[in-house]
Amino acid sequence: MIKLDIEEGKKYRGKIKVAELEDGSKVEIPYFVMRGRRKKPVLLLNAALHGDELNGVEVIMRLFEELDPMQVDGTIVAVPVVNVLAFRSRDRFDVIEKRDLNRKFPGKKDGNVTEKIAYHFFNEFVKKADFGIDLHAGMKGHLLLPHGRARTLGDYAPKLEYYQALGTDIIFYHEGEKGMLNITAGKHGIPIVCFEIGEADRLDDFYINEGMKGVKNFMKYFGMLSGLPEMPARQILLQGYIEMRASVGGMFYSKVRVGDVVKKGDVIGYIRKINGKKVYVKAGKNSTVMGIRTLSAVREGDPIAWMLSFENAEILEIKKKVKIRRNRILEKAERFIK
Ligand SMILES: [Zn+2]
Repeated sequence: MIKLDIEEGKKYRGKIKVAELEDGSKVEIPYFVMRGRRKKPVLLLNAALHGDELNGVEVIMRLFEELDPMQVDGTIVAVPVVNVLAFRSRDRFDVIEKRDLNRKFPGKKDGNVTEKIAYHFFNEFVKKADFGIDLHAGMKGHLLLPHGRARTLGDYAPKLEYYQALGTDIIFYHEGEKGMLNITAGKHGIPIVCFEIGEADRLDDFYINEGMKGVKNFMKYFGMLSGLPEMPARQILLQGYIEMRASVGGMFYSKVRVGDVVKKGDVIGYIRKINGKKVYVKAGKNSTVMGIRTLSAVREGDPIAWMLSFENAEILEIKKKVKIRRNRILEKAERFIK
């Protein structure tokens, strides 16, 4: 059992045991609790469901250091590293089981270690929360624009207000898969927002700061911190996902950055083949760059960019009083959105 009921104004660090390994060593999940001026609501923050996604780990560590519990209305429960085995092996998955923890929720009490981690995390942490933020990053070599990923599955659809509360320019709306944390928790009536920042393996201050801003916006939006969240008055909900792949092998040179707005035919970058010939990569649709490849060498078929087209884009208005900031993507994209 996690220790949730701590004294007002205190911080606590603990861990829970979830399994035992070959050599008798224990698999334990570390967690933090910060009890503010009130007990409720309970906000869950977690990172590293995928063991190599580090920016979120740092967001949680810094927030836990920085926040004064007496400024918080509610309780924060934070799990900086959920997939401890994958984190240890600096990989997306545990290297022995090679299973994606974010397809295993709500887990199995008597399952393999990945399923046990899912089970204990879901029952000990998720079920005790009123809402939460699940921090992710792009895979190795996939740099992602900070954004929330609102996922549907069958007749399940998330409440978008929780995603809006992060205050990002765009929200990616798409169909997810069975066993994902945000879908499983959402079906249990607990909104957990999937928040992508940057890329795996590397800590990057820009993306860590964007992550901290998003979490603080969320807390302000739902009254857990005083002050107004700083966010655009209008956010763009996008669902036109396009993965661009290399048509030849060579070295990829990107000509765009994440969050850039491109029109159909604009150059995204080029691949220089080993014979010196340049092959340009062009946008197939009016879109924004959600992610870009940061690993230079490519072979035919490797992904090089992840775009979100403005087809079927929707504008979401903020309903609460906020401190309004510009939405730079929307300013450039307005002409493409009907
Ligand atoms: Zn992830």
